[in-house]
Amino acid sequence: MEKDECIFCKIIKKQIPSDIVYEDDKVIGFKDISPEAPVHVVIVPKKHITDLNCLKKDESEIIGHIFMVAREIAKTLGVAEDGYRIVNNCGRQGGQTVGHLHFHLLGGRMLKWPPG
Ligand code: AMP
Ligand code: ZN
Repeated sequence: MEKDECIFCKIIKKQIPSDIVYEDDKVIGFKDISPEAPVHVVIVPKKHITDLNCLKKDESEIIGHIFMVAREIAKTLGVAEDGYRIVNNCGRQGGQTVGHLHFHLLGGRMLKWPPG
């Protein structure tokens, strides 16, 4: 998908509304429109990267940053102590539906394992 048509790029550019819970110069975190848990935040790099397969080595620092941000959001939204899950769906069989690299932060209920 071209980044001009990418829904997450539009959220980043504030061209479409979202419920933003975290933002800095590199990433944005917003509430998932169709939550799978009481806490369900999508964390995305502001740079358009299609998926994990497309991530270049010199871009890989963003992953550590996203995990640190996820940890902060988990604390802010009150799920840090009970626990939470960070998920990246990559590609069709991985269940990725939006072609802009993102991580799900899920918490607020007992999560099942393995995922479906
Ligand atoms: P994935 O299936 O891993 O690609 O995750 C994409 C996620 O983005 C899904 O959980 C969707 O519910 C969520 N999503 C899609 N459009 C929006 C939107 N406009 N605002 C917030 N979340 C969205
Ligand atoms: Zn994008």
